[in-house]
Amino acid sequence: MKKRTIIGVLGRLLYRKRKVRILTKKSSRTMYMKYKEQARVLVHERLIFWNRHYGFTYGQVSIRDQKTRWGSCSKKGNLNFNYKIVFLPTELVDYLIVHELCHLKEFNHGPGFWNLVGETIPEYVLRRNALRAQGKYRVRELETNALIAER
Ligand SMILES: [Zn+2]
Repeated sequence: MKKRTIIGVLGRLLYRKRKVRILTKKSSRTMYMKYKEQARVLVHERLIFWNRHYGFTYGQVSIRDQKTRWGSCSKKGNLNFNYKIVFLPTELVDYLIVHELCHLKEFNHGPGFWNLVGETIPEYVLRRNALRAQGKYRVRELETNALIAER
């Protein structure tokens, strides 16, 4: 039977951890390259659809690879979405699209903002909770500072 030393066990654990990290980083990039155009098409199509109701003006639309954020709206009116939006069910995609669209008028999460969201998605609370249940990719949006300012 092979002898197990502390150094040997630790070494193997550290090696495995590093390997996993490298693999995760690599696959994340590959996934982003693979799905970002699909995400762009989806986001543009749903923005046009929902903006028939709101009629807001928005700037650039970017698709990003982000760890913890699904979408954001800058003070200049540019919209950002996580490419992983392509993996969400349609009702959550639409909630995200409407959410960011409404920030073009209400740059906060106050009652006025939610009334605006509710105009097209009356059950937004359910969808917001469903989105938060998506694990670590949930939107961090309780605070206004979740909205990124233009850099
Ligand atoms: Zn928000």
